[in-house]
Amino acid sequence: MGLNFCSLSSGSSGNCYYLGNGFHGILIDAGISASSIRRFLKKMDISMQNIMGVFITHNHIDHIKGLDGLTGRNAIPAFTTGKIWSSILTPKKKIPKDCIREIPLQQKFHLAGFDIEAFPVSHDAPETIGFHICAGDKKITIVTDLGHICQTAARYIKSANLLVIESNYDEQMLVNGKYPHFLKTRIRSDNGHLGNHQTADFLAENINDNLSHICLAHLSKNNNTPEKALQSIHQTFLKKGITLNGHQRITVLNRSTPTNILGFIEKNNPIQSEIDFH
Ligand SMILES: [Zn+2]
Ligand SMILES: [Zn+2]
Repeated sequence: MGLNFCSLSSGSSGNCYYLGNGFHGILIDAGISASSIRRFLKKMDISMQNIMGVFITHNHIDHIKGLDGLTGRNAIPAFTTGKIWSSILTPKKKIPKDCIREIPLQQKFHLAGFDIEAFPVSHDAPETIGFHICAGDKKITIVTDLGHICQTAARYIKSANLLVIESNYDEQMLVNGKYPHFLKTRIRSDNGHLGNHQTADFLAENINDNLSHICLAHLSKNNNTPEKALQSIHQTFLKKGITLNGHQRITVLNRSTPTNILGFIEKNNPIQSEIDFH
């Protein structure tokens, strides 16, 4: 069974990721408008009728902006934990009752050929989760908003073939930037976001041959650039004498346009920002 991945949008302006297994597809987060999601999927010849569910990581607007539209007009079921639903369902957020599906933490859940497991991560929302998804013999882990990588998250990250992981800010740009002090502190805290060096250090410690594709996600518009995120990994790997095998790729996901990594084991699509270390 083939497995296709595409990031429709990644960053603080909106997150939405597509996974397809040749028969059906699912979305992770709906942080851009539902009309943009429909438009991007149509461009890739993916019908909304093939989308069997949308899985939500937490209640921040850059992850749920298009949720009303997907559940309302398209009647796509939405899945997340009870605690996250409690934080999403406010009088302003109208989600049809029969689209609301609750999932447990750290228990495999089967949907349309995917085995999906939610696990907790550390972030400043009432609850935030990452997803570990198996389709056939391929495993994907998606963690887009987390201040540090706890042991549980590390376990799911290390067993992935495709990893979508946050590399939110360049430490110097954040420190020297215009954000108020409280916001800089929040972003750098254990409940905030992962900086380039945190992500690079973790990857340097934990890279293994099964991990064939790493996607750097959720880059800050004001405090990061794709070049800095890649450079940070390049320098850290060089310093620690780590080389990638010939099949491993590292890609930076675009902030507001789709990044196609369809069929992620074979490199068969143009990718905007990528480095190979061999
Ligand atoms: Zn976010
Ligand atoms: Zn967030």
